[in-house]
Amino acid sequence: MSWLPVSRDSDFPIQNLPYGVFGRPGELHRVGVAIGDQVLDVAALAMAGALEYPECFVARSLNTFLAAGRSVWQQTRQRLVQLLDDGGARPSVEPYLVPMADVLLHMPFEIGDYVDFYSSIEHATNVGQILRPDGEPLPPNWRHLPIGYHGRAGSVVVSGTPIVRPTGQRKIGKASLPTHGQSQRLDIEAEVGFVVGTPTSLGSPVAAADYADHVFGVVLVNDWSARDLQVWEGQPLGPFLSKSFATSVSPWVVPLEALEYARVDGPAQDPSPLPYLRRGERAGLDIALKVSLNGTVISRPPFAGMYWTADQQLAHLTVNGAPLRTGDLFASGTVSGPQVDQRGSLIELTWDGDQPLALPDGVIRTYLEDGDVVSIRGSAPGVNGTTIGFGEVTGQILPARGSR
Ligand code: MN
Repeated sequence: MSWLPVSRDSDFPIQNLPYGVFGRPGELHRVGVAIGDQVLDVAALAMAGALEYPECFVARSLNTFLAAGRSVWQQTRQRLVQLLDDGGARPSVEPYLVPMADVLLHMPFEIGDYVDFYSSIEHATNVGQILRPDGEPLPPNWRHLPIGYHGRAGSVVVSGTPIVRPTGQRKIGKASLPTHGQSQRLDIEAEVGFVVGTPTSLGSPVAAADYADHVFGVVLVNDWSARDLQVWEGQPLGPFLSKSFATSVSPWVVPLEALEYARVDGPAQDPSPLPYLRRGERAGLDIALKVSLNGTVISRPPFAGMYWTADQQLAHLTVNGAPLRTGDLFASGTVSGPQVDQRGSLIELTWDGDQPLALPDGVIRTYLEDGDVVSIRGSAPGVNGTTIGFGEVTGQILPARGSR
């Protein structure tokens, strides 16, 4: 229990303590920690001498802290718990609490490389059935390796950033030739992202067992996707402009340490993966996602069932010796469960528009329309029945710009 009252339904009890970058409008950006409905100004706290490593926190991004490594992450977390738990520390900490409602939350870290996987067997099967109705839904490599692609780091944006509808080449209806114009099948992908702290050097693979030495924490991701562009451009090298226009992340990075009680065994894997892909004990995370469209919940994807876990993804993306950089982000791929209302994308929820969603206000949706607001939330179990929340990643669709 903290001396600071935190409501039971808050995403940010003392067991969570996620890190972000914040400031009141016009103020310098600096590192803060969420607790209840407040942001603890850890930059000011460190400058006042109550916290070590001020250079990690008087900073416009989390990168210095991320690069400092696991023992600094652990020490800092222990110290923050102590300061927020011990009533004696209250007078020296309370002046550094800022109401979250008064601040802007900025991009929490400077993105290094961005990789997106495709690790839900339900999602991959659904999309395979929709796009290749006469073929095998899963490609032959799917159960042997976590399929992924390198995304565009420069268009990863923080929650709240408006999303301009992309234009590009696509074939409309049964047209045999493409035209250039705005995407008419703009979609979402509800995902979970992993933020790399400790870097590696070129030529040094990371073992799955060392994953927690390199990954600092977890964010929510919306991998906005233009399905019409994707279908036309995707063969043979995979997604390109259909994904690179924008990817949104939540502003609070939840440390892996806060998710210790959310660890679960991933699903059984058949065939057994190659030795470098052997999964660790309880390498899955029981994160319940909730996707809302214009305020109505349209899906509740369960992350716990993901076929490939984050330790396997990290081992795979470095197995060829590709180095990790501080701030690298790797996302899970769309999270979908076996139930219809657990699908994490509109292409699945509406079966590519064949089965429109009827929202309670009488509105019908296949794909996103201009003005639509999509919000993804997430929560995981914490110690003693507490809830570790992720806040939200949200974005509104703005009309396309430029040539039609
Ligand atoms: Mn994706």
